[in-house]
Amino acid sequence: MHKDNQPLIFEITKAGRIGYSLPELDVPEIDLSSHLSGGLLREESPELPEVSELDIMRHYTALSNRNHGVDTGFYPLGSCTMKYNPKINEAVARFPGFANIHPLQDESTVQGAMEMMYDLQEHLEEITGMDEVTLQPAAGAHGEWTALMMIRAFHEANGESHRTKVLVPDSAHGTNPASATVAGFDTVTVKSNEFGLVDIEDLQSKVGPDTAALMLTNPNTLGLFEEDILQMAEIVHGVGGKLYYDGANLNAVMAKARPGDMGFDAVHLNLHKTFTGPHGGGGPGSGPVGVTKELAPFLPKPILVKEDDRYTFKYDVPQSIGRVKPFYGNFGIYLRAYTYIRSMGPDGLKAVTENAVLNANYMMRRLEPYFDLPYKQHCKHEFVLSGRRQKKLGVRTLDMAKRLLDFGFHPPTIYFPLNVEEAIMIEPTETESKETLDSFIDTMIQIAKEAEENPEIVQEAPHTTVINRLDETKAARQPVLRYIKEEELVNA
Ligand SMILES: *Cc1c(COP(=O)(O)O)cnc(C)c1O
Repeated sequence: MHKDNQPLIFEITKAGRIGYSLPELDVPEIDLSSHLSGGLLREESPELPEVSELDIMRHYTALSNRNHGVDTGFYPLGSCTMKYNPKINEAVARFPGFANIHPLQDESTVQGAMEMMYDLQEHLEEITGMDEVTLQPAAGAHGEWTALMMIRAFHEANGESHRTKVLVPDSAHGTNPASATVAGFDTVTVKSNEFGLVDIEDLQSKVGPDTAALMLTNPNTLGLFEEDILQMAEIVHGVGGKLYYDGANLNAVMAKARPGDMGFDAVHLNLHKTFTGPHGGGGPGSGPVGVTKELAPFLPKPILVKEDDRYTFKYDVPQSIGRVKPFYGNFGIYLRAYTYIRSMGPDGLKAVTENAVLNANYMMRRLEPYFDLPYKQHCKHEFVLSGRRQKKLGVRTLDMAKRLLDFGFHPPTIYFPLNVEEAIMIEPTETESKETLDSFIDTMIQIAKEAEENPEIVQEAPHTTVINRLDETKAARQPVLRYIKEEELVNA
C-alpha cells in the first residue's frame, strides 16, 4: 500500500521566495550586454520556481518516495532480474582508491583497478566457459551488437562477406533482432514448436551459405531451456555460421551449465542483472562479451593484458573491431559484480541458480490452476502465464497488472513474449523469501477471483495510487523533462 497517496501539489512557487543565501557582492557587477550579443541575452525573467530550501527538499523527497524499487518492494518483472543488490557492493564501489581514480591516470598508478578488471574477466571466462572476455560494452544489447560486429569481422577476414543473415528464433529477447539489424545483418526468424522451443526443422530449412550466425536466448523468453542446443550447434557450424548465446539471464544456468561447453562462439552477460549491478533507471549497465580463441583477434581494443606482474592496455590489435566504449567501460559496475562473485564463491553462485529456478517453479505451479499456462514443462528462472481465461470475462492482463499496484507489487512483464496471448511473464528471482512469494501468489489468486466475481474492481484499478492509469507509451515517448508551469502543461 502506498504510504502517502495524497496528490502532489506541483506548483509551490511563492513570488520572491529563495532557496539560497549568498554573501553580498564584493566584486564589480558586470554589464552582461557587453559580453553577450546577437539576442543571446534574455529580455524576460525565465520564471523559475521560487521556493525555499525546505520546500524543494520536501518536494523531491516526496517524489522519490513514490518510486518502486527492489529496496521498497517485490519486483517480479520478467526477464529483468530485479533481484536484491547486496549493499556490500556499494561499500566496495565507494572505496576511495577506486572511487577517486581517473581514467586518464597513468597505468602505473592504477594497477589495483586493472588487476580487479583482469581478475573479473578471468572469473567470467570460467563462468561462461569462453576463452577471452571484453568488459567494454555498456549494456546487454550493446554486448550483442559488439559480438555480432566481431562475427562480421571474422567472416570478412575469411573472405566471406556474403554471410549477411542472422537467424533469430521468435522466442528470443527483443533486443536480438534489433542488434542484428543495427550490426548491418538481415534477420531471419526461426519458428518455435508446440513446446515453445526452437523448431529444428525450421532452423534446418533456413541455414545456408549466407548464414552469419544464430542468436539464441537461453533460457528463451518463455523461461524454457533449449533442449536441442548441441544439434543446433552442429547445424549452424555445419554451414560455417557462428553461434551466439544471449546470457543476460545467466542466473537460470550459472554454475550448472556453460555456453562454452555447449559449442557457442560468443556470449554476452548482463552484470546489471545476474551479477547484481543496480538497474532500472537507465543504467549504467555492463554487458561483457566472451568469445572463443577463433574470435578473440577481433575483440574491441584496448585489450587488458598481464605482462609479468604488470597490467597494461594493449592498443596494437590489428584485427580489432575498435573501441566500443570510451575509456574502459562502466568501472563501478565491474566492482559491484566482482564483489558479488567473490563474496558468493562457486557454491554460492550455484545456490543462486538453484533458488532462482526453484522459486519460479514454485510460483508457476501454485498459479497454474488459476491462469492458463501455455507451456507445461518445468521452467528455469521465469515463466509465462496467459490471461486469456480472464480476458473472456472482460478482464485484460493490463487490468490485472494495474490491480497489483493496489497491493504494493510491481507488475510482471506483460504482453511479452508476443507468441503468448495476454502474456504475463513472471521472474521472482532467487533473493525473495517464501513469505514474499506466497503473498504475491495469494494476491494473484485473489485477482483471478475478482475477475470472476467483481470484474469492475480490476478493470478500474489502480485505486490506491496517486494517479490512476498512466499512458505508459506517452510517458516514455513524450516525457516532460523540464519545468513547465502548470497552466502551460495543461495546454501542452
Ligand atoms: C535484459 C535482456 C537483454 C538486454 O539487456 P540490456 O542491458 O537491457 O540492453 C538481452 N537479452 C535478454 C534475455 C535480457 O533479459
